Amino acid sequence: MTLTVTNLTKQYGNFTALNNFNYDFTPGVYGLLGPNGAGKSTLMNIITDNLKATSGEVTFDGKPTGEMGAEFRRLLGFMPQQQGIYPNFTLERFLYYMAALKGMKKEEAKEDINRLLKLVNLSDSGSKRLGGFSGGMKQRALVAQAMLGNPKIIILDEPTAGLDPKERIRIRNLVAEIAFEKIVIIATHVVSDIEFIAKEVLLLKQGEIIGSGQPHRLCEKITDKVFEITADENQLSEISGKFKVGNISRDEKNIYVRVISDNPPTDYDYKPCKPELEDLYLYYFD
Ligand code: ADP
Ligand code: MG
Repeated sequence: MTLTVTNLTKQYGNFTALNNFNYDFTPGVYGLLGPNGAGKSTLMNIITDNLKATSGEVTFDGKPTGEMGAEFRRLLGFMPQQQGIYPNFTLERFLYYMAALKGMKKEEAKEDINRLLKLVNLSDSGSKRLGGFSGGMKQRALVAQAMLGNPKIIILDEPTAGLDPKERIRIRNLVAEIAFEKIVIIATHVVSDIEFIAKEVLLLKQGEIIGSGQPHRLCEKITDKVFEITADENQLSEISGKFKVGNISRDEKNIYVRVISDNPPTDYDYKPCKPELEDLYLYYFD
């Protein structure tokens, strides 16, 4: 099972939102990582056929998805970045409605909805109105909607946006759970959302892939470029001016500043560190 994106370009007038994007997706979780405006939603909207590309092609097992029509839509579950929900709908009604749009029969939908409500831990809320849901409950309802009909390809556009850390973890674990034998693509600008669950990470910057692969392999790009400086308070602004700064921590005596730098910060008391995905993100995007 392969979803192939070939030479995909999207222009809005003279502005290029996606520039000659190429990738093969096979079963597993893919993290599409990049800052706001990188082109993540543009890519997802094109893959899901909600937006027309300027040029290029998306194929599933060799067949152009545009020609597959309903056949492709049945394979696909999508959680868009902005999704209007009907505040007066109960969760169950919303899911039945979305199932109907996917062409599922009522009986089939019923079974599936019960299964999904359990999976997203909302079994007790099926008869509650969406208008009264917390942010985390809404996001989980939208993830459930994307999984109706057990699609082989699941595309989630910033499913953790606006969630607190506990809710983020819940969504992350959910994604990891459902990923078996599926192609799951998840867009985020938060490294920790995908750091440990992604088979591969795609770094997207201004519409182009600037790096991709297994997270630890990607991090090899900045081997010897991550350091921890032991500093005192009055060195802090100077250090921030010279380097890309990651975590800052402190104890009673010192401040420890994680920096990403092409050369060792020899003017300071430093030690090398093992690079992590967050360092890579800062290296490319800060
Ligand atoms: P991301 O999801 O990574 O934040 P988007 O794909 O939403 O990025 O947007 C990529 C770029 O394309 C942004 O600079 C955005 O302003 C621009 N863009 C998106 N949609 C439109 C549109 N309909 N018209 C013009 N520019 C757009
Ligand atoms: Mg987006």
